[in-house]
Amino acid sequence: MDIPHDRDLPVHRSGPPNDLPPQFPLEPDGRCRCGLLAAEAGLSTSDMGWSDFIVHTEHGAVKRRIQTAPCPRCKHARRRIGPDLAEYGLVNWNNGIGFARELFDGFLVDFSNKETTFSSFVKGVEARYLLHGSEYGFPQGGKTFERACYAFLRLVRFDSPMACRLCGSRPDVVICDGTSIGFASRMLGQALSPPTFPTTESKIKAGV
Ligand SMILES: [Zn+2]
Ligand SMILES: [Zn+2]
Repeated sequence: MDIPHDRDLPVHRSGPPNDLPPQFPLEPDGRCRCGLLAAEAGLSTSDMGWSDFIVHTEHGAVKRRIQTAPCPRCKHARRRIGPDLAEYGLVNWNNGIGFARELFDGFLVDFSNKETTFSSFVKGVEARYLLHGSEYGFPQGGKTFERACYAFLRLVRFDSPMACRLCGSRPDVVICDGTSIGFASRMLGQALSPPTFPTTESKIKAGV
């Protein structure tokens, strides 16, 4: 199936990232986090260097090599221009680790259908990594994955049809049930309880 896409956006191949090459060279469409393109950075081959790159998929992580160059605009040791990797179905997070797009797709499917939180999704991934004997663990705590997931959604300009037919995408009044925005159970306490938890102020409705 051919889904039309915006010409300006990287074409993200979906599905598991099969046949990853052993190394990812820096291409002219590579970018720094600041937005500077490799093609515009006036790089010479002597600027470029190779380093390890861990690719995280749904079932395990593999090591590859990545080519990067220092960003002449940022002039910061950790801000380097690296390849985009969208054509491989990967999101290059920080030139040190990357995530397969299938992870983000998988999280969105679980979130929409089973109210899965980031932490429970990450627990599932960690369990699969153990099961498949992955050489590298999933980034600890899930915070990196969470940040990468939000960055990915901004990158692909995630267009959900979640707009009111009458008021558009920014209605004056929004009513949230809050049940799919889960929180970790350790945060349960006096100030935070599930929305289904009755309080002394809850209305008693007969027959419900
Ligand atoms: Zn930069
Ligand atoms: Zn409306």
